[in-house]
Amino acid sequence: MSESIQGKVAVVTGASSGIGEATALALAGQGAKVVLTARRQERLEALAGRIRDAGGEAEVVVADASDEGQARGVIEHASQAFGGVDILVNNAGVMLLGPVTDADTEDWRRMVHLNLLGLMYATHAAIPSMRARGGGHVVNISSVSGRGASPTSAGYSATKWGVGGFSEGLRQEVRLHGIRVTVIEPGVVRTELTDHITHGETKTTYEGRIAQMTPLEPEDIAAAVVYAVTQPQRVNVNEILIRPLEQG
Ligand code: NDP
Repeated sequence: MSESIQGKVAVVTGASSGIGEATALALAGQGAKVVLTARRQERLEALAGRIRDAGGEAEVVVADASDEGQARGVIEHASQAFGGVDILVNNAGVMLLGPVTDADTEDWRRMVHLNLLGLMYATHAAIPSMRARGGGHVVNISSVSGRGASPTSAGYSATKWGVGGFSEGLRQEVRLHGIRVTVIEPGVVRTELTDHITHGETKTTYEGRIAQMTPLEPEDIAAAVVYAVTQPQRVNVNEILIRPLEQG
């Protein structure tokens, strides 16, 4: 049995590509009003157009999720446009893989500021609206790298393990306010994520690894988000780990 999210307000960060784009489409397909945010305005406007053409409601907010003021502005925009926030999908992230010993520490700052602090800022801004509406759902997109680590994932894993810790503490804190918290941990998904890796050797190795398997598609993760947010209110889906069949 699932519950309808028709008319619920869903904010999706990192909605301009990959998992965020697919998730926004899937939530809109379920009748949610979606707030699309990222930095690339044209991509967001194109997505909003597709959703509106299909009869849905969408708002675009261009923002850098790693900036606290801008993250807060996204939630304020959602409240002004649609009256509040019911579902927050914290998806925006970068995966700047590379060895610790050879690291450009600017990569670490970008990942901590976006993958971890950005997610925390948006959550902090959205919780009061959810409480005022009697409940809500925070969905945090972590990674298999939030459960394990490998020689080039230390910095990225640090941020995704942080997402796990933050989510678990948050879950215990807000559950009695009717707010559910779900962590989704994808394995390899076919998106633009690897394009941004700055460490050349790591990028080549990682892309070679992906080429040897059939990765997940963004829609596979979007389906997991829809599953979590359409469960009856008594069901708090805490964690979903999804790997491609061929990923070891
Ligand atoms: P994409 O690169 O396709 O999407 C990343 C999204 O994040 C884009 O919409 C991008 O938009 C947005 N983003 C990046 N930087 C910022 C910023 N500073 N402010 C606001 N938005 C930003 O990759 P994925 O779809 O794969 O990644 C989505 C999430 O999934 C990430 O958290 C990633 O860690 C996680 N993940 C992905 C896996 C994979 O194999 N693909 C596996 C496990 C987890 P824009 O550039 O327009 O701002």
